[in-house]
Amino acid sequence: MADKKALKYRRVLLKMSGEVLMGHQSFGLDAMTINRIAAEIGQLCAAGVEVAIVIGGGNLFRGSQLAALGMERVTGDHMGMLATLMNALAMQDALQKISVDVRVLSALTVDQICEPYIRRRAIRHLEKGRVVICAAGTGNPFFTTDSAASLRAIELEVDALLKATKVDGVYSKDPKRYDDAVKYEHLSYQQVLVDGLQVMDATSIVMCQENEMPLVVFDMTKEGEIVRAVLEDCVGTVIHA
Ligand code: UDP
Repeated sequence: MADKKALKYRRVLLKMSGEVLMGHQSFGLDAMTINRIAAEIGQLCAAGVEVAIVIGGGNLFRGSQLAALGMERVTGDHMGMLATLMNALAMQDALQKISVDVRVLSALTVDQICEPYIRRRAIRHLEKGRVVICAAGTGNPFFTTDSAASLRAIELEVDALLKATKVDGVYSKDPKRYDDAVKYEHLSYQQVLVDGLQVMDATSIVMCQENEMPLVVFDMTKEGEIVRAVLEDCVGTVIHA
């Protein structure tokens, strides 16, 4: 049995954008990438970490992009939220295949497919060692899955919110364009907001700030990085009060 007391974080919420799931493709899902991520999540569970996940939908649909094409924004956002549910089902499938116990809980009720999101039920699943995938964002249009991630992290009383990106932390400026960009190991929420650093949207940063939810920004494209971010020290950038 894993020694939970020795863990740096006993319960985490992992936020990954839909883009992470498409690997090198420009749309949709990449099975190899999903399976790799599922295996890493499985390692966290085996170490005794309770894992909640919020997945975005940007690899399929975003409300703002559909609105730009002429669709009503609310309809576009509904499609975006359904896209997050599709990604959640793909991740559930990949986890199940490697015998990781998992439940999708959706903020929009789709009774035939998954459970509705109910906070106490989500916590019970986590306590039983099941991975909980929170689908359909907040269930409301005009929000993002970043905001949903902050909301669920706070509600589910996790020890840290892990924001998976394609960069190994937060930089003073775009490291791909500027050689003199400096990587931060630690940052305050205030600095993120004042300097307009691209971490998560402002709503989610403010929610983390008000509820003192530590936020770890790390590179998910590197193999094994999820496990290092949760079980080891100093991966990526840590944002706190
Ligand atoms: N969305 C929404 N409400 C929410 C979360 C998401 O309406 O609470 C919609 C919105 O249209 C968004 C899409 O779902 O563009 C996909 O989410 P997001 O853009 O956050 O995905 P990511 O960029 O993380 O892949």
